[in-house]
Amino acid sequence: MSNIILNGVMGLVVADALGVPVEFKDRSILKTNPVTGMREYGTYNQPAGTWSDDSSMTLALADSLIKGLDYKDIMDNFIRWYDNGDFTPHGEAFDIGGTTREALFRYKKGVSPLECGGKNEHDNGNGSLMRILPILFYIQAIYGVDFQEGEEIFEIIHNISSLTHGHKRSLMACGIYISIASKLISEMDLSFSVWSGIYNAMEYYRSQEEFQCELKYFSRLEDKSFKDLPIEEIKSGGYVVDTLEAAIWCLLNTDSYKSCVLKAVNLGRDTDTVGAVVGGLAGLKYGYENIPDEWLSVIVKRGYIENLCNELLKTMQMQNS
Ligand SMILES: [Mg+2]
Repeated sequence: MSNIILNGVMGLVVADALGVPVEFKDRSILKTNPVTGMREYGTYNQPAGTWSDDSSMTLALADSLIKGLDYKDIMDNFIRWYDNGDFTPHGEAFDIGGTTREALFRYKKGVSPLECGGKNEHDNGNGSLMRILPILFYIQAIYGVDFQEGEEIFEIIHNISSLTHGHKRSLMACGIYISIASKLISEMDLSFSVWSGIYNAMEYYRSQEEFQCELKYFSRLEDKSFKDLPIEEIKSGGYVVDTLEAAIWCLLNTDSYKSCVLKAVNLGRDTDTVGAVVGGLAGLKYGYENIPDEWLSVIVKRGYIENLCNELLKTMQMQNS
């Protein structure tokens, strides 16, 4: 059986690492000198294959889920990441988003985990979307591989987001993302998987009174011609809706892991996170074996990441049996 956890998580980590050296670069600059493979140094002066907070927080969540679903334990892992450099490539956290930093600060002050995430409109950066993927594997272990999205499942996804990002728009972005990710694991046609993932999630949100005022922010994704939008219409900064859109647009307009994540990174600006968000989906769709070897071979702590994925898979399979 292929290891879907390794597919998704390594897909995310590799694309994050592709984006790290060019984070904040404008699209116009990358157009004249596009990223075609792993670079070294650049924005954070890190060696090739260095991944960032997106991967660290994803690994921190995956590590915690091995022990079961415990929101406090996940927050403790996030603190271990930021304060001690656990779950990092070189023993030190070199970046963090503002909303995440504030949430960790609240947690240390004694606020309960599910109340730590910022709930203001400006707290809708992509900081929970970039690390939400591992909860899919927990949900599949508990509710089955082809689980039906329902209240209980969305509540878990929303809780995982709320640890750092508690605004409804961030919760919805995570819900839509996990819904798409779950469909990509099946053998269905790519665009059918994406559309059914979006459709199922949006049907749920439409049925919930509390999400009504947020539906409009996701309307472009529901439009069947979304894929055909010109690149100028796709923003790649840190706003969660832009990141989700950019990821889905890249996925729909490419046909391999490599072409998908390079398209994402070359959009510019928040290159590591747009890369990580789409990298997780592309990894699930195309599989670990389709991630280029020359990229995998430079990933820092590759063995550690693979072991962690294998360990989580083992635990999830035990839950299922
Ligand atoms: Mg990052």
